[in-house]
Amino acid sequence: MASFFSTSIEFLKGVGPQKADLLKKELNIHTYADLLQHYPFRHEDRTKFYPIRSLNEHLPNVQIKGQIRSKQLAGAGRKQRLVVQLYDDTGSIELVWFAGIKWVEPKLKPGITYVAYGQVNRFGSKLSMAHPEMNVLTPALENNKFLQPVYSTTETLRKKYLDSKAIFKLQKTLLQEAYGRIPETLPEDIRREYALFEKKDAIAQIHVPNSAQHLQKAKFRLKFEEFFFMQLRLLMQKQIRLEKFKGQLFNKTDLLTRFYQEHLPFDLTNAQKKVIKEIFADLKSGKQMSRLLQGDVGSGKTIVAFLTALVAIDSGAQVALMAPTQILANQHYEGLKEFADLMDIRIELLTGSTKTKQRRVIHEDLKNGSLNILVGTHALLEDVVEFQNLGLAIVDEQHRYGVAQRAKLWKKNKNTIPHVLIMTATPIPRTLSMSVYGDLDISVIDELPKGRKPIKTIHQYDANRLKLNGFLKKEIEKGRQVYVVYPLIEESAKLDLKDLMDGYESIARAFPEYPISIVHGQMKADDKDWEMARFVKGETKIMVATTVIEVGVNVPNASVMVIENAERFGLAQLHQLRGRVGRGAEQSYCILVTNYKLSKDAKTRVQTMTRTTDGFEIAQVDMQLRGPGDMMGTQQSGQVDLLLGDLREDEPILSAARQSAQAIIKEDPDLQLEQNRLIKIQVEAQKKNKINWSRIS
Ligand code: ADP
Ligand code: MG
Repeated sequence: MASFFSTSIEFLKGVGPQKADLLKKELNIHTYADLLQHYPFRHEDRTKFYPIRSLNEHLPNVQIKGQIRSKQLAGAGRKQRLVVQLYDDTGSIELVWFAGIKWVEPKLKPGITYVAYGQVNRFGSKLSMAHPEMNVLTPALENNKFLQPVYSTTETLRKKYLDSKAIFKLQKTLLQEAYGRIPETLPEDIRREYALFEKKDAIAQIHVPNSAQHLQKAKFRLKFEEFFFMQLRLLMQKQIRLEKFKGQLFNKTDLLTRFYQEHLPFDLTNAQKKVIKEIFADLKSGKQMSRLLQGDVGSGKTIVAFLTALVAIDSGAQVALMAPTQILANQHYEGLKEFADLMDIRIELLTGSTKTKQRRVIHEDLKNGSLNILVGTHALLEDVVEFQNLGLAIVDEQHRYGVAQRAKLWKKNKNTIPHVLIMTATPIPRTLSMSVYGDLDISVIDELPKGRKPIKTIHQYDANRLKLNGFLKKEIEKGRQVYVVYPLIEESAKLDLKDLMDGYESIARAFPEYPISIVHGQMKADDKDWEMARFVKGETKIMVATTVIEVGVNVPNASVMVIENAERFGLAQLHQLRGRVGRGAEQSYCILVTNYKLSKDAKTRVQTMTRTTDGFEIAQVDMQLRGPGDMMGTQQSGQVDLLLGDLREDEPILSAARQSAQAIIKEDPDLQLEQNRLIKIQVEAQKKNKINWSRIS
């Protein structure tokens, strides 16, 4: 059976060695199985003819039939176009060609009924179709109603007559032989529960659908399967981890009790209590914790990290906290030190700029165990950094670390793998966390501390500068401080710096009475720190900066965040920047300044920001705009490589598949039961060829 699907594509009727070579090079199609899984990316609706009067520009591609009554060349030279009026009983529409006119024009004859297929556009009150596909109406075209699959192909392939239609033909040829041999991969009870097509029907129907409903069902089945095996793989990894790795047992709570009684600076929110409970249950389970802690900016992750650290330290273990940037490491250090000092717990910071002498002391004290908490950047991962007993590794991820780097931290304890708590301040849509972090346990802080006034977000056009300055003046007079942020994009750093300096000057002119700080990426670290410090102390009222302040500063008295050229920022960045204000008791504002011309995406971003402060909602929109791969960065996008499934729209399918996988792992972790035989075969096959989770084997 395996041998049929691994047959080289060259042996398929109509392919041959030359075309096979091209298919391999251009589309990575090597075998029969590869071709069958080269799914169409959409289907054209050839099931009906639209009356011309019923057309509008919101329809997908449509099929119409009619006769040509006029045909003329308009414009001259490069701007020449062919304009044709197509009529049916209900009305008329303009068909337009800008290229290939010489070839198209002679074929279009009055008095013959044509079928035109294409996208309807509107210009003013006029509807038109540009470059429609034209066919003379034949009885076959008239009666043969179908959904035409469209396959991705390349220019090179098209030149060699391997366009979408040719690929469709190959699929039909292959299906004739393959259909009866396609093995089922999901057990019957799962198929029954979700009314899933058999695999062979799903494959057949996605290429040659009988109807829109069948196509729908075929896609559902194939997506379900893809998600199912992906989730199964993640859950099995987790299973193996739990069986294989013991975790240190942390069950002393003396330090914790003392901190609660003497120093806890505020009542914990219910969300904080909930996640702390989840974490503590892990720490005393005897199993190794691998947990993701998600919490929006300002939701209070620091205290959760500290309480977790206390429990580890109480049992004689050390704690490492790793952050992706120096500024962020610094901020964590400051935040934790405040608490650690109260408890006489030793904490140090290790980054690229730690002096050699200080480094030596840190290395020494880590080894002899007198240093309890080490905060730092990836400098922590260097071999010279040895702990006496690392029991808890906290990773502030910000999407920047991959699985491999996490694994390096594990190795810092040669006896037992440390417990791992991964923190992220960027909310991640559920579908993404289920895929990228599907092997981890997940805790969410979904509530902000009480008493915070929601930040008011306002969109303002460039031209209203005077009004904006007036508003800022009022806020400063009330005693508040203001951030004014400019974008920084590496490729045009010079231009950005000019924008920033121009902005600084105009602000200095508008506010001659107030001292102003300025911070940007091209300043020396010391100068930056000095400027930041002045703002933190309240000596300066306005901070003009590039996005370097995105992470890092915590100034509760700053209540206004002005973001210049806001259209150039991504949603995640805008959300992070806004999180810099709203930290004190005052009403805070975020003002997005843009020019009048906004792209569609930029408009959506601005509207989203003014509509909501909910990080999860913003993350969801961000994923719609950018796609899951981009959102997670290149390192982790590989983990969400899906053939058919789409994390933007398939949450219900993913959830169902995860539930199914969970139920199976729970009942039959080693897949020994007869009813799970098909799953086991598939899992084994996937282990052998690691490329794809839903390969036909
Ligand atoms: P983040 O999750 O962004 O790291 P922090 O831990 O820095 O958030 O907390 C943000 C601010 O909220 C800090 O000033 C912190 O002291 C305060 N805070 C945290 N938890 C609470 C709480 N339960 N009640 C009141 N203030 C809190
Ligand atoms: Mg924080």
